Amino acid sequence: MSLLDAYEKTKQELTVTPEKLTEITNHFVSELNKGLSKTGGNIPMIPGWVMDYPTGQETGDYLAIDLGGTNLRVVKVSLLGDSKFTYEAEKYPIPVPMRTGKSEDLWNFIADSLDTFVKKHYGSRGSSMAKLPLGFTFSYPASQDAINEGVLQRWTKGFDIDGVEGENVVPLLQDAINVRNTPVEVVSLINDTTGTLVASKYCDPETIMGLIFGTGCNGAYYDVCNDIPKLEGRLPDDLLKENSPMAINCEYGAFDNEWAVLPRTKYDIQIDQESPRPGQQYYEKMIAGYYLGEVLRLILLDYYSQDLIFKDQNIKPLQVPFAMDTSFPSRIEQHSATFVEGLFLDSFNIKTTEEERNIIHDLCLLIGTRSARLSVCGIAAICKKRNYKAGHCASDGSVFNMYPHFKERAHEALNDIFQWNCDPKDYPITLIHAEDGSGVGAAVIACLTEKRLLANKS
Ligand code: BGC
Ligand code: MG
Repeated sequence: MSLLDAYEKTKQELTVTPEKLTEITNHFVSELNKGLSKTGGNIPMIPGWVMDYPTGQETGDYLAIDLGGTNLRVVKVSLLGDSKFTYEAEKYPIPVPMRTGKSEDLWNFIADSLDTFVKKHYGSRGSSMAKLPLGFTFSYPASQDAINEGVLQRWTKGFDIDGVEGENVVPLLQDAINVRNTPVEVVSLINDTTGTLVASKYCDPETIMGLIFGTGCNGAYYDVCNDIPKLEGRLPDDLLKENSPMAINCEYGAFDNEWAVLPRTKYDIQIDQESPRPGQQYYEKMIAGYYLGEVLRLILLDYYSQDLIFKDQNIKPLQVPFAMDTSFPSRIEQHSATFVEGLFLDSFNIKTTEEERNIIHDLCLLIGTRSARLSVCGIAAICKKRNYKAGHCASDGSVFNMYPHFKERAHEALNDIFQWNCDPKDYPITLIHAEDGSGVGAAVIACLTEKRLLANKS
């Protein structure tokens, strides 16, 4: 076999046809429904206890933190009404060893960063002031029976910290905050997708869902309480109006964990098996940023083992798991094939021939296209389920923002599924850039929660 033959075979494996997209979407709809049923399914479909639509008229000052896959973000938000807001934010990179370190180190790191932020932005008034309400964006699957709690089901995105799964993370964080006497109270725990949904709806009433295509992938939308069988008996009387909206954090990265329809390749299977949580997040492991560089790396290692590429070279630096993050394939696709030469020399001390560079460039195109096309199956499934014929899908995350052509590819795939037969600029369902979910979204949710509590008291 030649390198070109091997590439052609890979191309076949990574190509998702319109028929396959439709098959996946139909299965996805049934899995979303299963997740809402009393018995449940692979997709957790977690009620997020956000039970109002924002109007854009919410006001007030709030603090928010976002524990993502890569950074901790702390934000001070002022909601001004009329869909307007101002905010100040700081980012604190999460030290890589902390992803697999000790639980208390994580909470101490967050509480320290928060304390630093509060001192800097609120000055010496510090601990004598009234407690600041804080919305905690926690971008992992967490079960909630109320807005101010979240029991971590399982870590995703390569996080693996003992002693947190099965625990309510709000008191873990609140205790670390209290030890420092930082005047902050965690009032709500939200998923990043729920925050994205609500922030975007605060600014744009046509928003129908909030989506993250980043280190991980996931989506949230509003359902209606009486269409959620598993809520029966779980709604406190004072909250229950049967037709109340309820934001659902789908956690659909777990779609098809039983592997019924996804076109997984041997590379996807290897990624799963070598991950800290095999058997989980099958869908996410094919499309999310944490894994796209790894797909490319495994393909290249496979070619190398067949003596098709990098012949007679020592490729040790490339043999390190996750040696390429997603910025590798996305930068390679963004530039031309010649960019590969310097990149591989500088990063791995590997020399490339012109043919190899062209093939690596084309592989990045395939990997990005597959990610975008598979990504829209979740969107299409939510649209089918809720019977949305038009609307804005508020999207955020590093893959959406940085991987070239993601949006165009996603739109093309949506058209493959819905067959709109019109000019792309007239597609009725589109991905648009989301508003800041973990800042503005967390603030709007904290505000809606306060209002609801007040209304219930009176
Ligand atoms: C998590 C979700 C999150 C998504 C995007 C997934 O790995 O399970 O909670 O919304 O990543 O950040
Ligand atoms: Mg994030």
